[in-house]
Amino acid sequence: MADEDKLSVENEAAPPAWTQLQTAMHQCRRCAEAGFWLGSTAIFSGPWQARLMIIGQAPGRVEAETTGQPFSGPAGHRLMRWLGAAGWPEAVCRERCYITAVTKCYPGKVPSGRGDRKPSRQEQQLCAPFLEREIALVNPQVIVPVGKVAIDRFYPAKTKLDDIIGSSTEIAGRIIVPLPHPSGASAWTNSRHNQAKIRAAIAIIARLRVELVLDAM
Ligand code: SF4
Repeated sequence: MADEDKLSVENEAAPPAWTQLQTAMHQCRRCAEAGFWLGSTAIFSGPWQARLMIIGQAPGRVEAETTGQPFSGPAGHRLMRWLGAAGWPEAVCRERCYITAVTKCYPGKVPSGRGDRKPSRQEQQLCAPFLEREIALVNPQVIVPVGKVAIDRFYPAKTKLDDIIGSSTEIAGRIIVPLPHPSGASAWTNSRHNQAKIRAAIAIIARLRVELVLDAM
């Protein structure tokens, strides 16, 4: 969809393909059928006309057991503070941005019980067609992959956070602005040196929000 067309569809009903995709994601049991433990059904939110798409790793326990909203646990609060600094108060961000994840269902805790399990490569591959479809239908101008699992969908293997946080790139006509995982347990994110990189990334998002009128739909 061309950008100028997006301006005219703010109140337009979602296309059937979008409704079908949402239903398919909510009903999906692929990972359970492949033998993986699932702690929720698919969790995602936001308008199909969004100009900015945020892609995380997977929902966490709070999202799965309490809120049903992506990025609404402790790590999500930190991400929302970052986006608030870019000019999006959380309520506006949730209303205007589409928020999803590489794998859309809660993968459960690690066996030790300390923290959530990172979705396996197989789970990521099982969910990949949904993510590709979301990107195609939402057609965002800007994508913010959050954390290495999401970043790896867009950057070459072995790309280091050090080399890309605080920068942007263009892929297939979309601007990609990566952010690190906002977990409070992340040593990379908590480093004072790296916090300057995060501020640079937030400044890029803030600039794009104004230049590309990302608040519009
Ligand atoms: S994570 Fe994705 S592929 Fe796996 S069951 Fe959930 S929606 Fe389906």
